Amino acid sequence: TMAHSKALLVLENFIGGKFVPCSSYIDSYNPSTGDVYCRVPDSGKEEVEAAVKAAKAAFPIWSSKSPLERSQILNKLADLIEHDLEAFAQAESKDQGKTITFARTVDIPRAVYNFRFFASSILHHTTECAEMATMGCVHYTSRAPVGVAGLISPWNLPLYLLTWKIAPAIACGNTVVAKPSEMTSVTAWMMCKLLEKAGVPHGVVNVVFGMGAKAGEALVCHPDVPLISFTGSTLTAQRIMEKSAPHCKRLSLELGGKNPAIIFDDADLTQCIPTTLRSSFANQGEICLCTSRIFVQRGIYSEFLKRFVAEAKKWKVGNPSDPTVNMGALISKEHLEKVRSYVKKAQAEGARVLCGEGVDSLALPTGNQKGYFMLPTVIAEVKDESCCMQEEIFGPVTCVVAFDTEEEVIERANSVKYGLAATVWSSNVGRVHRVAQRLQSGLVWTNCWLVRDLNLPFGGMKASGIGREGAKDSYEFFTEVKTITIKH
Ligand code: NAD
Repeated sequence: TMAHSKALLVLENFIGGKFVPCSSYIDSYNPSTGDVYCRVPDSGKEEVEAAVKAAKAAFPIWSSKSPLERSQILNKLADLIEHDLEAFAQAESKDQGKTITFARTVDIPRAVYNFRFFASSILHHTTECAEMATMGCVHYTSRAPVGVAGLISPWNLPLYLLTWKIAPAIACGNTVVAKPSEMTSVTAWMMCKLLEKAGVPHGVVNVVFGMGAKAGEALVCHPDVPLISFTGSTLTAQRIMEKSAPHCKRLSLELGGKNPAIIFDDADLTQCIPTTLRSSFANQGEICLCTSRIFVQRGIYSEFLKRFVAEAKKWKVGNPSDPTVNMGALISKEHLEKVRSYVKKAQAEGARVLCGEGVDSLALPTGNQKGYFMLPTVIAEVKDESCCMQEEIFGPVTCVVAFDTEEEVIERANSVKYGLAATVWSSNVGRVHRVAQRLQSGLVWTNCWLVRDLNLPFGGMKASGIGREGAKDSYEFFTEVKTITIKH
């Protein structure tokens, strides 16, 4: 059984309701040990072609089902994933490096909820109508699914973000070809095993695994995929826009962030400090919504910094399956090196690293010595122009700087290319409202972080994306609208 437990997990593509082996494979690592433990299909044009063909063939039947029929199937799928929640959570933690606690309480419950949410919301849409009595006319809109949706997702919240696309796409009556990140493909493959039992007809959900430049690009370039929903980096999004331009594809792009926290001197620090620690370091700082620039008003700057660093030092980093651990491993060796290089650059520029990387030592359990771990790192006195204050680091690194006035901090917060999520901390309602209105950010959380109502729009401004997702927004993206005019 020892040999058995060491055997590699081998994934297969899921096309037309069947698992299909691939001719070549990619190694996938367990980030907490550094071992190769899984092999992921290295799909290309051929596999994408077969998946698109299956999705096209399934479209007429699936799109003609009533919203209620589709809703019931989505609910069944939610129940099946929930039934296996623990197995999914274990797999996600092993594949991604995140703590089992995070996978168990955030990733998988949200994947379940994504299906339940769209199973419900699809039943409640109405279309528009306008009368033009003097002309004897009535206008109304009608919505229909678009066709085969191409869905491309990243590695940080694997099943959570993939289902956030699959659920609305199929609820609206589209069929899909999904391409998860090559680094985190396991939970998507596990979900495929449940589709038939949930009653999802063959070909409605197809999953091709593989690299972005090969499988992902084949999907983006396929002429029979009129719509691409992508979550990932801004750089990849630019490539996707270029490649889809000849086909004028409909794109939804959820991209990176460089999110500010703005903390005024009347903030309730007993709430602000623990929440800002989470917003900086949750999921190893690998959430697009994570805080990475903390602006603190001068009067409370020293106190904030002292308390924040003291709390950051208490975070336990180590084996993701240890329930007492706050932070697991980063996704890959390359990513760890990249994140570390930002800390080195900050030091070289004269900033002060107050805790974490290069300052404190990290003791890891024997089995995790080769894992991709680093400590939560807080940097102070970083210049606004520094790459650490401008570029998305996407790891457990956060910069703290002082500010004086409201006017000044709004300008500094807005002075990056991104505009995804901001937090504002103050007990002055008027100020909170004024600042929130002026921030260039798709989401502004005041006196909280990551509190979401899926009904409302989610997405970024500027280089953080194009389009929004949510009950109404996803419905609009995944359907084509038509205006019909009737004259008596
Ligand atoms: P990435 O852009 O490298 O990859 C994302 C996906 O795109 C992967 O599945 C990848 O294989 C695929 N891909 C890569 N090149 C491609 C190409 N040429 N054509 C088609 N597909 C291609 O991003 P990542 O490193 O996996 O994820 C981290 C990034 O995602 C960060 O920038 C983060 O901020 C962003 N993100 C954004 C949100 C959001 O909702 N705004 C959520 C999570 C993550």
